[in-house]
Amino acid sequence: MMGGVRRPARRPPNDVSPSSTAETTPEHSPRVAVIGAGAFGGWTALQLQRMGAHVTLFDIWGPGNSRSSSGGETRLLRGLYGPDRLYVQWVARSLDLWRECEHFCGFPLYQRTGVLWMFGGSDEYCRESLSPARELGFRVDALEFSEAERQFPQVRFEGVRTAYFEHEAGFLRARQACYAICEEFQREGGTYAQISASPGPIESQAMRCIELADAYQLAADQYVFACGPWLGRLFPEVLGAAIRPTRQEVYYFGAPSGEGGFDADQFPSWMDLGDRIYYGFPNVDRRGLKVADDTRGPEFDPTDGDRSPSPDGVARARDYLASRFPRLAGAPLLEARVCQYENSPDGHLIVDRHPEAANVWLVGGGSGHGFKLGPALGEHVARCVLGRAEPEPLFSISRVAGLASPHTQFGRPA
Ligand SMILES: Cc1cc2nc3c(=O)[nH]c(=O)nc-3n(C[C@H](O)[C@H](O)[C@H](O)COP(=O)(O)OP(=O)(O)OC[C@H]3O[C@@H](n4cnc5c(N)ncnc54)[C@H](O)[C@@H]3O)c2cc1C
Repeated sequence: MMGGVRRPARRPPNDVSPSSTAETTPEHSPRVAVIGAGAFGGWTALQLQRMGAHVTLFDIWGPGNSRSSSGGETRLLRGLYGPDRLYVQWVARSLDLWRECEHFCGFPLYQRTGVLWMFGGSDEYCRESLSPARELGFRVDALEFSEAERQFPQVRFEGVRTAYFEHEAGFLRARQACYAICEEFQREGGTYAQISASPGPIESQAMRCIELADAYQLAADQYVFACGPWLGRLFPEVLGAAIRPTRQEVYYFGAPSGEGGFDADQFPSWMDLGDRIYYGFPNVDRRGLKVADDTRGPEFDPTDGDRSPSPDGVARARDYLASRFPRLAGAPLLEARVCQYENSPDGHLIVDRHPEAANVWLVGGGSGHGFKLGPALGEHVARCVLGRAEPEPLFSISRVAGLASPHTQFGRPA
């Protein structure tokens, strides 16, 4: 366990006080504290552990908890990713690592369904990443309408100008994945504690310790804060409003009885970029078809915000469903969830060193698309922390200062 915990008023859960393993840690093995066990922190901790660091992972409410941005059932994995080739590379690397998870968690976290892309306007976002996606093994077909209608009789293509089918894409089981990664991290020798942690004092360009609940302090060599929508609050002087949590609703609608045509083995996930962006998933694990509106909602408090769905949002989703999938007109709402995106001003991730503390890394800004990238992001962060890679300029903290009008990865207002 790490050294340097001070003032042990009483032992916090899962033993975060110093223990004998501090002596057995090899000299060269840095002690790293990772705060946040969502998709970003969980994978970072696992990759650091695999690269030989001595890692303790903290989460206030646990991996994939229902307040976190990684909570809930499913997340889309897609290789088409606009102009930035780096994302396509990270998706390809992540897909390999997600598939490997099956070996340790015993059930598939990733399920390939393909993604049906529908564009009501420009399809530049898709065209820009076609060649890197294809080079990296993502098969993508541009669909003629007659072919699209034949393949997907459940879909009404009115208002769609172009359509593509991405074969290797699919969905990840989100909250289950976070839990599985944390379990694997511990199996491989990492320490996990369910407790809150906040930044400690910074002196001479280094953070001295983190403050744990119950007045504990814990000292490590390096600290990674991967606190999702809470990251801006923890570092207001560095990130300011650069991470803005917005309220996002998702709905699960039931297919008519005896209607198997929307199950995951018969129906793809989809992205529908029209006046609004809707996306969704087939009937996974019998919970119903999941539909979400990507339009940014109002600002949201991830700790205490009200997570009841809004009647307006439900009505809009019903209208959308009836127009795009006529067989689902009048389908009953089975479940709804309110989550939050943690938006950066330009929709890109934030992965960088704290400007005033060389041993602190700030990791977040998933902006509604980060989950799938967790494995590759974790690998990159681990390399940065261990001095084996440099931070990517695309994800720098300095770039977010002074960005005029916030926008999403798809170029819409954020
Ligand atoms: C509705 C919705 C749909 C989405 N769809 C997709 C999709 O289809 N595909 C995709 O790739 N991505 C998608 N995303 C985005 C993706 O889920 C997020 O970007 C990603 O999960 C963020 O992970 P994270 O680890 O940064 O944050 P989180 O999952 O929020 O993890 C942060 C963790 O930090 C912990 N924490 C916070 N403060 C403290 C503290 N002080 N001490 C200890 N622990 C703390 C929290 O409990 C939490 O578990 C979606 C997000 C939402 C909300």
